[in-house]
Amino acid sequence: ASASKYGPLVGAVDQGTSSTRFLVFDSRTAELLTYHQTDIKQFFPKEGWVEEDPKEILASVHLCIEKTVENLKGLGVDPTEIKAIGITNQRETTIVWDKLTGEPLHNAIVWLDARTASTVEKLRDKIPGRNKEFLKTKCGLPLSTYFSAVKLKWMLDNCQQVVTAINEKRCLFGTVDSWLMWNLTGGTKGGLHITDVTNASRTMLMSIHNHKWDAELCRFFSVPMDILPEIRSCSEIYSVMSEGSLKGIPISGILGDQQSALVGQACFKEGQAKNTYGTGCFLLYNTGQQPVISEHGLLTTVAYQLGRKQPVIYALEGSVAIAGACIRWLKDNMGIIEKSSDIEKLASTVKDTAGTYFVPAFSGLYAPYWQTDARGIICGLTQFTTKAHIARAALEAVCFQTKEILDAMNQDSGIPIPSLQVDGGMTENPLLMQIQADLLGIPVIRPSMPETTALGAAIAAGAAEGVQVWKVGDKLDSCTAITTYTYNPSIGDSEREKRYAKWKRAVERSMHWQS
Ligand code: ADP
Repeated sequence: ASASKYGPLVGAVDQGTSSTRFLVFDSRTAELLTYHQTDIKQFFPKEGWVEEDPKEILASVHLCIEKTVENLKGLGVDPTEIKAIGITNQRETTIVWDKLTGEPLHNAIVWLDARTASTVEKLRDKIPGRNKEFLKTKCGLPLSTYFSAVKLKWMLDNCQQVVTAINEKRCLFGTVDSWLMWNLTGGTKGGLHITDVTNASRTMLMSIHNHKWDAELCRFFSVPMDILPEIRSCSEIYSVMSEGSLKGIPISGILGDQQSALVGQACFKEGQAKNTYGTGCFLLYNTGQQPVISEHGLLTTVAYQLGRKQPVIYALEGSVAIAGACIRWLKDNMGIIEKSSDIEKLASTVKDTAGTYFVPAFSGLYAPYWQTDARGIICGLTQFTTKAHIARAALEAVCFQTKEILDAMNQDSGIPIPSLQVDGGMTENPLLMQIQADLLGIPVIRPSMPETTALGAAIAAGAAEGVQVWKVGDKLDSCTAITTYTYNPSIGDSEREKRYAKWKRAVERSMHWQS
């Protein structure tokens, strides 16, 4: 094989919660040429705490790049055919490091981490009426354990080394994209300290209206503004790789993982939506150039800005904390399956859940409830109940949570979504997809190429001014002409409504458990 078999190539780093990947796409067909993946360790030092090691995250990126370069050489492709690299990352996960030594000052606090429940309560005391929606008109987000500023505030209150580094002007803050950019563009001496507008929109520190760090928000969280990265668009040549086999190749795209999936699914038109099923579940709905503030518990977030001179496009987002993580829990903590994909076989041995409902509110409930003190429950148990019913109830829980978000979207937008585009690791499960179509009552459409998150970052990188193997605008739609598979609903409205009403009762019972 020779390089001419392919169009210009684009690489993407996909740094997720459970794994890191480096993937290479052929820009002519948007097809995946090759990739390498490695798992990331998660630490659970206390109940509700979730940490990762920033240095392991960085090392995993280098490893995936080098292994993928070997794969390319095996295919007879010269790695310098890669014209640009994009980065997509787990969002909100918070890292602080010392700019003189390049050493992290604390483990990364992962988005799912709920240690900040008491931080949230203390911050609410500063708000008139303790209204957790107080900052929403400014940053689009409710006060929750989920967002970076709250995690950073916890570090300011609890980690002397962070406070000292701030006082000595040595401290830098960033989400995973910033940590990777700083290292990939400058080694341990440090390169660019930047983030993109989508990741910045998840911190609670950026104004959703002017896309700048907001002094008032920073004051609210006691965050000094000089530790924050510069906010850039999602698609521009930021710098080049400073070391490794891809040294000198431009890095020209950054998008948070959920926003990246929206771009990878080519949801460029207002009213288009996608739902990604991974560790959690995230439904994003493109609202065009208008930031719509939700009245039904959804987040207002930046969807993308594909170029410095391009408009900022917004999305409404419904976030579910626990989706695939519930399957992982059944595997790791309960031991009822050996690997995640076994869930389908087990759940298929029964035709329904026999009235079992499972609300996996392990980290509280995110959208549309935003209840920090909810906890998981399994209810409706009888002597007839088996692990198969519980497995099936876990799959249904993912689908019911998605239904709740879709209902909220439809209420906010006033225009019901006619079908749902889906992606993510869990969509490999056809039973889950069928249950989802049944419980939503609309078709569920899955692309045959599952790596849409990485493709989004590749598109952002490839569309950047000075790279332009892809062009921003309508043409992007055709560059991702991916084949799809559709699941159609197979149950009636009355059965759907009956089961949904029961789910709602189960959710009620999970709430306020901790208080
Ligand atoms: P992330 O991007 O959050 O790291 P992925 O998209 O890689 O997540 O999906 C991994 C998640 O999906 C894991 O939590 C795993 O338990 C779950 N999962 C993987 N395969 C299946 C399957 N066949 N059925 C149900 N869940 C699955």
